[in-house]
Amino acid sequence: MKVHEYQTRQLLSDAGVPVPKAHVIDAPEQAADAFNQLGSPLAVVKAQVHAGGRGKGGGVKLVRSALEATQAASDILAKPLVTPQTGPDGVPVNKLLVAAGVDIAHEYYLSIVTDRATRRPVIIASAEGGVNIEEVAETNPAAVIHTPIHPAAGLQPHQARTLAFQLGFSGDTVKQFVKILSALAKLFSQTDASLLEINPLVRTTDDQLLAIDAKANFDDNALFRQPAIAEMHDPAEEDPAELEATAHGLSYIKLDGSIGCLVNGAGLAMATMDIIKLHGAEPANFLDVGGSATQEAVTEAFKIILADPAVQGVLVNIFGGIMQCDKIANAIVAAAKTVGFTVPLVVRLEGTNVEPARRIIDAARNDIPTLQTADDLTDAAKKVTAAVQAA
Ligand code: GDP
Ligand code: MG
Repeated sequence: MKVHEYQTRQLLSDAGVPVPKAHVIDAPEQAADAFNQLGSPLAVVKAQVHAGGRGKGGGVKLVRSALEATQAASDILAKPLVTPQTGPDGVPVNKLLVAAGVDIAHEYYLSIVTDRATRRPVIIASAEGGVNIEEVAETNPAAVIHTPIHPAAGLQPHQARTLAFQLGFSGDTVKQFVKILSALAKLFSQTDASLLEINPLVRTTDDQLLAIDAKANFDDNALFRQPAIAEMHDPAEEDPAELEATAHGLSYIKLDGSIGCLVNGAGLAMATMDIIKLHGAEPANFLDVGGSATQEAVTEAFKIILADPAVQGVLVNIFGGIMQCDKIANAIVAAAKTVGFTVPLVVRLEGTNVEPARRIIDAARNDIPTLQTADDLTDAAKKVTAAVQAA
């Protein structure tokens, strides 16, 4: 689960990382007060969205007066924010952070992320932080330092000091850096984070280290024991169809292709997406109805898939284990009645109760003229891609 910058700043600040003062606002009329309360000649107005690269998209503006703050706030709130990470339509901006601005001498990158390859948290740091860190990582990977943290022993003080010297700190900034990194490592483990990122961590012109941007990601599977983190969830940042799916116990992720997929089991869903690609088409979604979905949930799944205007064909791939194929067959019939299939529908059913399921499907052929059945996964993928290309 992602959270906003202002929420991550609060977590960092509570953990002992120095963060400039800031206020959250949701209307341009609040900007002047927020600016004046900071009591700083320089402030920065920042879009609060779950996407990075805001600076490059005009979502971060430096201001020097209450008037400039109001203007910046109304500009940023006026339209969806398009950044290198959002896609061409951008994302709506509902909240802004008005933060005290700082005079930057140097920008560093510092994060801790779960590294699945080594199965431990790894610190990623660079003295070339800021908005071009992705470019630095690509063109000059030697400028990015990786330091693994032992999952049981935790961050060792000597690791933090070594990293401080590698980043070029000296004197008091070494102490400041060690304190910040130790706080970050502790927070990472205490909150079940999968990413904590400060970019940039800045050295100010008077040699203070401050976190002026912050991003966090938390392990969804640990939210049950992180109630304070779970409360930070902002549904306004989620895709409405994905929220709807979650409410019905479905795992749904919207993708860019044209073939809607309804599958049971995450592994089978991945295999289905692969085979669609193999036959030259692209999946419109990942959808796992789970092993024990009700007929209502499956009908809801069809509604979600068919509501996506990009969907030009639907592939149903069910391997009935705990899931009974006749339930799916009944859900197909129900979906045909409530939403109607105007696009090609290819159904492959196998496993528990497949015989009654086939009888239900056969009886429904007249009601669903676009329906085809398939013998196996390859047959299904071929039929759905051919039907979409023909249509
Ligand atoms: P991002 O583009 O979404 O990563 O947003 P950031 O908060 O990282 O801001 C982007 C860039 O704006 C930073 O890398 C800084 O160069 C600049 N910036 C942000 N806050 C300040 C500030 O208080 N003072 C100055 N001088 N620049 C800032
Ligand atoms: Mg940043």
